[in-house]
Amino acid sequence: MKRVLLVRPEESRTKYDFQGIIENECLDLEWIMAILKQDGYDVTIFDKQVETQSFQAFIKEKEFDVFYGESRCFQETFILEYARAFKERFDGLTILGGHHAQICPERFFREETDLVLSGYNYTDLPAVIEGERNISNLSYRKDGQWISNPAEAVDIRSLPWPDRTYFYQHPDRYPYLDMKHAMWIRSSFSCPYRCRFCLRNHLNNSVYSRRDVTDLVDEIEQNSNENVYITDDDFLYDEQYVRQFIEEIRQRGIQRHYICYGRADFIAAHEDIVRDFQQIGLVYLLTGLEDIRNDRLDSYNKHNTIENNEKCIEICRRNGVRLMAMFILGLDYKGRDFANLYSYIRKHDLKHVAVSIYTPELGIAEGVEYITDDPSRFDYLHLVCRPEHLSVRMWYFHYYILLIRLFLKAQKDGIYDFLDYGDYIRSFIRNIFKREDENA
Ligand code: SF4
Repeated sequence: MKRVLLVRPEESRTKYDFQGIIENECLDLEWIMAILKQDGYDVTIFDKQVETQSFQAFIKEKEFDVFYGESRCFQETFILEYARAFKERFDGLTILGGHHAQICPERFFREETDLVLSGYNYTDLPAVIEGERNISNLSYRKDGQWISNPAEAVDIRSLPWPDRTYFYQHPDRYPYLDMKHAMWIRSSFSCPYRCRFCLRNHLNNSVYSRRDVTDLVDEIEQNSNENVYITDDDFLYDEQYVRQFIEEIRQRGIQRHYICYGRADFIAAHEDIVRDFQQIGLVYLLTGLEDIRNDRLDSYNKHNTIENNEKCIEICRRNGVRLMAMFILGLDYKGRDFANLYSYIRKHDLKHVAVSIYTPELGIAEGVEYITDDPSRFDYLHLVCRPEHLSVRMWYFHYYILLIRLFLKAQKDGIYDFLDYGDYIRSFIRNIFKREDENA
């Protein structure tokens, strides 16, 4: 019986790692665990987001034959470090997968890597482990050269339910803000929209694939976890699907609290759905408002308007749903754009706000000139391209001023009482005075 170690690295090695604030259940590893266990493998998960030991200490006294590691772009360095440590300790088979490997498999064509799986075809992993190489989405080495098999989209319905043993072993972890131990569930792969900045619609070879509603509701019903994070990139896509979901939950009398993503244009056009969803337990709606100007929304290919965004804000407020309003800070921002965004947030009294720095991810953006080659900087908290109108240092100056104002507002609103506000604000102030090359 082969012993397989499934690994997810930490989100960050800086202090901005969201540990204890937002921790994501390692759903993909749990799918793989379910598949491999069915075939009799001995499977262990190591999620550095919640593990307190170092990876090296964890593997020191144990024995494994196979390593599978997943990562996002900003975790590339960490997962490769773990693959190297695994090779040195066991000389076993190393397979690299996950979202970054889907978009940029060639980033993993390294000494410490044996195979790269750039798709969701996890059901092929038992065959891959046993030596089969004629598998779609698989890259491997032959005579010293890397060979990549054809890419293929995966039907999400081909996957079993995840094995949540690891999640339930950590009942005090995996929060979403004030919602403790939030179980992740997914009804679809990829996204039918094509927003220019977004990596998600490139996943699964850009093919949208969705589970049946009944199967999704069955999975929720059979997991007693109180908080459910529907992690689809856009759950509020198909009106009929969402209505059926709400109806099934209601009919079966399932009592849960939900978090999910939805587009502002859908919310603006479907207040009745937001109301009904709130009545069955919707707490947080995560929505990319992105910007406060229509020309920028157009340039992002968002297919949405500021008018819809404002309707969305009102609908969430009227129906008692907490809107997590997400904005992108553009490379074309001038000082007044940061100030205008803050005024907008105040004017609309947005309580939950997340701001990301515009980040053209490796592998999806063409003709981009990066100012860093450090993958850990692609975390949406760092500039990876030069701003158009401001120096890097001045752009960061306005950015940190905005963060400080948002944190002070959140503190006044009393919404993140579990955070050490003072600590964050002090560190933002320190960052303002860093040299340009230290921030970039
Ligand atoms: S931003 Fe949202 S709607 Fe746009 S492509 Fe990404 S997931 Fe889809």
